[in-house]
Amino acid sequence: MSPPPPAAGLPAAPTPTRAERLERLATETFDVLVIGGGALGASTAWAAARAGARVALVDGGDAAGATSSASSKLVHGGLRYLGLGDVKLVREAHRERRWNARLVAPHLVRPLQFILPVGAETPHRPAEIRLGVFVYAALSGFRDGRTGRVRPGEAFALAPGLRRDMERTFVAYHDHQTDDARLVLAALRTAELLGAVWLNYARVESLRITAGTVSGADVVDVVSGARFAVSARTVVNATGPWVDHIRRLEDPGAAASVRLSKGAHLVLESSEPWHAAVTSPLPEGRVSFAIPWHGLLLLGTTDEPFEGDPATVRPTDADQAQILAEAATSLAPDVVSPARVRSAFAGLRVLPLGGTSTAGTRRETVVTVGKAGMISVAGGKLTTWRRIGVDVATRALASIQRPLPDTHPAPLVGAADPDAVREELQRRYPELPEGSAAHLAGLYGALAYDVLEPARREPQLYEPIVPGGPDVLAQARYAVEHEAAITADDILRRRTTVALRGFEAEGRLRVAPFLPDRTVSPDEAPVR
Ligand SMILES: Cc1cc2nc3c(=O)[nH]c(=O)nc-3n(C[C@H](O)[C@H](O)[C@H](O)COP(=O)(O)OP(=O)(O)OC[C@H]3O[C@@H](n4cnc5c(N)ncnc54)[C@H](O)[C@@H]3O)c2cc1C
Repeated sequence: MSPPPPAAGLPAAPTPTRAERLERLATETFDVLVIGGGALGASTAWAAARAGARVALVDGGDAAGATSSASSKLVHGGLRYLGLGDVKLVREAHRERRWNARLVAPHLVRPLQFILPVGAETPHRPAEIRLGVFVYAALSGFRDGRTGRVRPGEAFALAPGLRRDMERTFVAYHDHQTDDARLVLAALRTAELLGAVWLNYARVESLRITAGTVSGADVVDVVSGARFAVSARTVVNATGPWVDHIRRLEDPGAAASVRLSKGAHLVLESSEPWHAAVTSPLPEGRVSFAIPWHGLLLLGTTDEPFEGDPATVRPTDADQAQILAEAATSLAPDVVSPARVRSAFAGLRVLPLGGTSTAGTRRETVVTVGKAGMISVAGGKLTTWRRIGVDVATRALASIQRPLPDTHPAPLVGAADPDAVREELQRRYPELPEGSAAHLAGLYGALAYDVLEPARREPQLYEPIVPGGPDVLAQARYAVEHEAAITADDILRRRTTVALRGFEAEGRLRVAPFLPDRTVSPDEAPVR
């Protein structure tokens, strides 16, 4: 299987306006209503739309505004899950990882080498780690390049922040990384091109139940405050940490189906380019990742039981202290200095009930069917998002006797070889700042041409959103006109990398002229 050629990437139909989306939602009858526009909702909508079903999706906040923009951004087999004995999950995750990288979104899912430092005080012996990495590579058919022991000099060249003051064995393996929120957006736009309608800032407040069967939902448009109903033959609840809240709209007596665990990350500036990530083994089977991400360093993550309101999850000073301390087991002190922290974010894992510690709980997908037939799905991994979506769409469409989805992977809109797109961008748009061509090719694939086309007429759109950064103003225009962005946060945090680089305040001023007239404040938006 070789990467597909650069796709034309041009949406066949004009992007609907918010008013047009609202009109459709309020007037049509859908086969499937998906509640929640994170990875699982988006993939379910995409799979159902591919099957020819009439699909609607609503999210109470922004698309990917919750867990699906707060992950470690890895598309990985999950080396540490081998330690939990989850061979099936690892094998499936490897398979999905390859499909994502080769076919579904080669521009968004990029290969990444990992270095695992092992020393006397780490929880596993070098021989154990080497065996684990061998089994891990075997489960992916040894298709990802060289694994096993690497010399210290090579490890330091790949990951220059590694500590050099301790006796260590270095073991290499391979996975992929992505831009989680952009992957979700690409799936939503692909579903849209297949006829689905999706709307952000549209919160489900109650479910409609007709003759004992769920038949739609009552929704509030968070932007205008208007209320409307969406009619559907079946409903999928893909609301991540809110999954039980929505289940109780169907059945107030429904018992809890999941528990939550908070994970925080830090984004640090990096003075040198890194060519590999570092996985530091920690006690209780946990790991600390240091991942090169768009010229920055992503550190994380924590794993703490969480029982509060999911809308209130935030990174804290204690999270920062823990993440830096755990990273310091493998990285040099100046690399993990608090002064280098540019931004932080936190999200909630949805885990099956039972088990012991949250870290030791298997990352299984939890699927339940409620009294009125609503299918709820939560948990799992971003890595297996496509497969989970196909399975859920299959259940939903089978329940209403509609044709079932194709289980074979397909490319998302914009899927393209990022190097080919970068070269073409440099040729077509020589005014584009250096570094932005590769950046845009990675975020948008073949849709990057659409992003930049208006800049031919309005050259100020080539300007960086913040000085020195690779994101350009054309992305702000595109986010509002084609990607349903409404707030500055939508643009800076999920459609570009500006906020994670730590330039939120400057970014807000720069993108303000592009925002729609009536904007919700980010505080207004989170689902409660
Ligand atoms: C710290 C952390 C790190 C992770 N790292 C990785 C990783 O590196 N690789 C990997 O494969 N997986 C990772 N995961 C797991 C992965 O992020 C999740 O499996 C995935 O994002 C879950 O997506 P989701 O769609 O189920 O939930 P979410 O993304 O949370 O989406 C749920 C959506 O439902 C919406 N919603 C809620 N209530 C309503 C309502 N009433 N009406 C309408 N909409 C509503 C929310 O606004 C939200 O957008 C990580 C998870 C965490 C927490």
